[in-house]
Amino acid sequence: MSSLSCSKCKNKNGIYFRPYSGETLCKSCFIISIEEKTSRTISKFSMINYDDKIAVGVSGGKDSLSLLYILKEITTRKNICTLVAITIDEGIMGYRDESLKLVKDFCAKLNVKNEIFSYKDLFGMNMDDAISSRPSKKMTSCSICGTFRRRAIDIAAQNVGANIIATGHNLDDQLQSFLINIISGDVNRIGWLNPEPVNYHFNGMKKIKPFIEIYEKEIVFYALQQNIPFQTEQCPYMNEGIRTDLRNFFNLLEEQRPGIKYNTFSSLLKISKISKFNSDIKHNKCNRCGHESNHGICSVCKNLIILQSN
Ligand code: SF4
Ligand code: ZN
Repeated sequence: MSSLSCSKCKNKNGIYFRPYSGETLCKSCFIISIEEKTSRTISKFSMINYDDKIAVGVSGGKDSLSLLYILKEITTRKNICTLVAITIDEGIMGYRDESLKLVKDFCAKLNVKNEIFSYKDLFGMNMDDAISSRPSKKMTSCSICGTFRRRAIDIAAQNVGANIIATGHNLDDQLQSFLINIISGDVNRIGWLNPEPVNYHFNGMKKIKPFIEIYEKEIVFYALQQNIPFQTEQCPYMNEGIRTDLRNFFNLLEEQRPGIKYNTFSSLLKISKISKFNSDIKHNKCNRCGHESNHGICSVCKNLIILQSN
């Protein structure tokens, strides 16, 4: 059937229809399109240099494993950079164990070193402890976990001697964060979403997100086409926050108006650039732990003080 021909190479069967561009792609052209798009994002925002040591945050989900796979392919082909996979064990009973094994096996296959860091070791409590110690559900699981994870990844990356942290955040993740910041009045944080790497004052670490121009749905399809084994089990705490609702909201809009996520993302780029330029982020130290903080006490310590007092 001609309607199933690949729009790029013409002579193969199309297996993926991209509503926002009107293209139908065969397996090989789809895979190439995702890998080329990742490379273009890396170049466009000057994300890496040839001698960088990149700590890739690998959780065992489709985004992080696909990112590791593509970065390994790019850096091996160009003979640049060193990769280390860092995995954060939040300590969520029955959820994290499967992914730790998955990551270990996948890293061994790619010949990438894998280092695991746990909340328990770093903060003295795991996520299950934090959930049972929080005073109310107003402290949402994902807000506690997100704060801990960012710090854990910073510590892990420093520990393995990396100068760049790469994470698998995709375009959908960025849109959700954008709206969450607007809804919660945290407008200064919108500047953090700007993809040009941020150089951190204290440790000079850059953070990059090479998938920010790719839809979540396409990363799932990429992982499936490449037979990348990813964790499908969902975190038991995931539905507490607003993120799942926003994901569904954007998916519904995209279904009715293909391309609307891209349009919103280009607005995000413009707004985040202005916000980054205007924000007066002060690089101070936390009075309690000594890590970087814009206030006297950092958000990790604020959470720990509340959780440890219960
Ligand atoms: Fe942590 Fe929330 Fe992710 Fe669960 S869904 S691992 S609580 S950030
Ligand atoms: Zn602190």
